[in-house]
Amino acid sequence: MSSEVYDCIVIGAGIQGSCTAYHLAQKNQKTLLLEQFVLPHSRGSSHGQTRIIRKAYDEDFYIRMMEESYELWAQLEREAGVKLFSRTGLLVMGPEDGKKFQLLKASLQRNKVPSTVLERHEFSQHIPNVNLAAGDGALVDTTAGVLYADRALRAAQMVFQAHGGVIKDGQKVVNVQPGTVVTVTTGSDVYTARSVVITAGPWANTVLSHTGLELPLRVVKVNVCYWKEKVPGTYSISRHFPCFIQLNPKEAEHDIYGLPSNEYPGLMKVCYHMGSVTDPDERDRQPDRVEVVGRYIRRCFPGLVPEPAVVEGCLYTGTPDRNFVLDRHPTFRNIVIGAGFSGHGFKFGPVVGKVLCELAMGQVPSYDLSPFSIQRFQDHQKSAL
Ligand SMILES: Cc1cc2nc3c(=O)[nH]c(=O)nc-3n(C[C@H](O)[C@H](O)[C@H](O)COP(=O)(O)OP(=O)(O)OC[C@H]3O[C@@H](n4cnc5c(N)ncnc54)[C@H](O)[C@@H]3O)c2cc1C
Repeated sequence: MSSEVYDCIVIGAGIQGSCTAYHLAQKNQKTLLLEQFVLPHSRGSSHGQTRIIRKAYDEDFYIRMMEESYELWAQLEREAGVKLFSRTGLLVMGPEDGKKFQLLKASLQRNKVPSTVLERHEFSQHIPNVNLAAGDGALVDTTAGVLYADRALRAAQMVFQAHGGVIKDGQKVVNVQPGTVVTVTTGSDVYTARSVVITAGPWANTVLSHTGLELPLRVVKVNVCYWKEKVPGTYSISRHFPCFIQLNPKEAEHDIYGLPSNEYPGLMKVCYHMGSVTDPDERDRQPDRVEVVGRYIRRCFPGLVPEPAVVEGCLYTGTPDRNFVLDRHPTFRNIVIGAGFSGHGFKFGPVVGKVLCELAMGQVPSYDLSPFSIQRFQDHQKSAL
């Protein structure tokens, strides 16, 4: 057992845990970041080269958090000396009279997010090689772009270490014993800290089970598919092709999204925003669900070969309302939880890290965290009775 008592132990070195650890170390908190796998790894939710960053949200609270998140990403870029963001804009297409499209359009206007509505007659002039479906409207969030995810994760961990933080990887947490000083046991050692932050992604409930808490989380495996451009460069980042979200595609129940070709030259990433429920340790046994995206590509992206060239796996950990969990443990107030990022949490990494750091230090959080409370699940259960 290590005799040193840390100010904080963060469990899970995905983007949320790494950003939390970085904020804690910046505030001179003696911090240990524990990770079950040897870093870097591709078994959780934060691996892969790219993620979409955007302000286009229906909810004002997400837009407010994103305002700060952009600033904090830029600060991390400066501190780490690496490029983490490319601005491309985000094209949103969806049934023009549909609720989702209208809510988003109104939210962008209300929050004065720089954006442009594209009328049908001008669409192909701005966005060539995409068929806008009949009845669909289109708008562009011009603040949006691509975050370089693997690089961002490495940057957060590097800056954390530069501030004196300690990372121990290959150390799976097998027990968390609450108390004024929390005892965290891994397969090979025992550590103690005045507070603990649990950011274990798809394994959140496994780690929380040691504290008697279970959250309504659902883990799904998502197929990350790359599609070959018939003419290389048609949808490339260097030609300023934007990221996109297709709301309510007629092929499927959930949205489809894509990012311009970049990390694998000549291949564009287009994915279905849902997958099959899985145990995170068994994810590679799940059947693939790529044919939905293939049918959509055949209809709307004539410049792509409608068979995936590359398929990678990733996990979403969803809550029933798709809002995150950012809260203290209901019984043990020095245990803080960041979970349920529901397939859209990466872009918030630095601001989530800031808020979890504030909770771990017993400070008043910078944002109203009621949309992210654990209590909301209990309130919902009661109202459903
Ligand atoms: C295909 C895909 C596309 C996405 N696209 C976007 C996007 O465009 N924009 C966006 O904003 N977000 C996106 N997301 C969501 C985003 O990537 C996730 O919300 C985010 O990465 C979640 O990070 P996390 O730190 O909570 O989880 P993880 O990255 O899974 O980190 C949790 C870590 O905890 C570790 N751990 C678990 N149990 C233990 C234990 N017992 N002991 C020690 N360590 C443990 C795990 O090994 C893991 O490293 C996407 C996700 C996927 C899968």
